[in-house]
Amino acid sequence: MFEALFTLEDMRQVFRDSGPTGLSDEEEAKFAARLGTLKEIIQAIEKGEGVPGPVRIAGNIDLRTREEHALNIQPIQAAGRLSLEARKAVISYGDGYSTCDQCRKPFRLDRITHPAIGQFHLDLARFVNMDQARVVPGARRGFQAVTQALLGKGDSVIVSSLAHYTEFLSVEGVGGVAKEVPLDDTNRVTADATAEKIETVTRETGRTPGLVMIDHYDYQYANEHDVRGIARVAHQYDIPFLCNGAYTVGIMPVDGKAIGADFVVGSGHKSMASPAPSGVLAMTDEWAPKVLRTTAMVGDVTNRKFGIKEVGMLGCTLMGSNLIAMMASFPHVRERTTQWDEEVRKSNFFIRRLLGIDGSRVLSEYPRKHSLTKVDTTGSFDRVATTHKRRGFYFSDELSERGIVGEFAGATRAWKLNTYGLTWSQVRYLADSFEDIAHKYNLPVRLD
Ligand SMILES: *Cc1c(COP(=O)(O)O)cnc(C)c1O
Repeated sequence: MFEALFTLEDMRQVFRDSGPTGLSDEEEAKFAARLGTLKEIIQAIEKGEGVPGPVRIAGNIDLRTREEHALNIQPIQAAGRLSLEARKAVISYGDGYSTCDQCRKPFRLDRITHPAIGQFHLDLARFVNMDQARVVPGARRGFQAVTQALLGKGDSVIVSSLAHYTEFLSVEGVGGVAKEVPLDDTNRVTADATAEKIETVTRETGRTPGLVMIDHYDYQYANEHDVRGIARVAHQYDIPFLCNGAYTVGIMPVDGKAIGADFVVGSGHKSMASPAPSGVLAMTDEWAPKVLRTTAMVGDVTNRKFGIKEVGMLGCTLMGSNLIAMMASFPHVRERTTQWDEEVRKSNFFIRRLLGIDGSRVLSEYPRKHSLTKVDTTGSFDRVATTHKRRGFYFSDELSERGIVGEFAGATRAWKLNTYGLTWSQVRYLADSFEDIAHKYNLPVRLD
């Protein structure tokens, strides 16, 4: 199929290489020859003779076919795999500044009407129930835009003890200091613990922290954290609250106003079926003048001004296929958030079956409220690893033989998996496969 797709691209190239007045005889011949090749490939597909060829991109880049060949339970990849419409957008809008064909005054990405990029910005804001939204190259760039706008040197930011490294870096980059809220004994961040940390930091530094930034669901356990309670506490101290929705926006309903967030950040490539890098930064009207401040700079030689370009966005952000693919996925993404309960049911179905394999444990909160889970198989699959000549890799071998990929290769103790987007029959297959491996190595399996 890739051969066929690439041959179609070869045919497309003939048009790109030709003049605007149509194909010359030579180009017609070239086109016909490639069409002939395509027909041969299609015939081979029809006869079931399609051989996975030595097809590469630019001679040395292997094709990526893991989503076609396998069940992918990789924790960060599951909800970022592209929708069909997004893949079409990548093909059509891959050229550099492809979003800019119809950019008109005042020359800003979020004002473009063809394609409907402006409307998409309004839709995104409504999607997370906030007032304004901008697309950004990853959740991390959303954090950065906020820290840059709000913090000065030495300012503290309250983060979770499960915070993502990019949150730390976004604080460090502006000379701020991240301060972690300790977890409770269920590995959750509570409003009380956040209040206590704010008090401590204020006492120690003599200054109120400049921002509270907490993950809605964290990346280590995918436990739910009380973002509503935390937002309320932050506001009691007059501190703005950023809700990190990298693992929520695009897979479950997120209501920024109900949470009480000043900022909601999402990751396109993690949770919105979009290419990397992409993401969303949404905010209330209150913070827009600060975080989306427009340029006031004037060239000292040329006297040039730059209109309404936003400083924190460096003018424009996602200027090609990333944005259009994000837009193309959006109807699908919006719809799938309404199916979140079903995703959680599948997650719990699998985890329950895994727990039936004697010695397996779940380290995340349980029952699960998310499709990402941290499990501990020290008491089950790791017991085999201690004597197996391939050590922990035997487990990855067994999984990949069954067409399952994405677990951390060699890990048989604490590791993470994500069942997001698997169909029921795929989830059952996944659970059956784990039991199958357990049987093979004589690990007791409880059937209930
Ligand atoms: C993945 C992740 C990020 C980073 O997201 P990008 O879109 O890749 O920048 C930030 N925070 C959390 C909790 C994450 O899981």
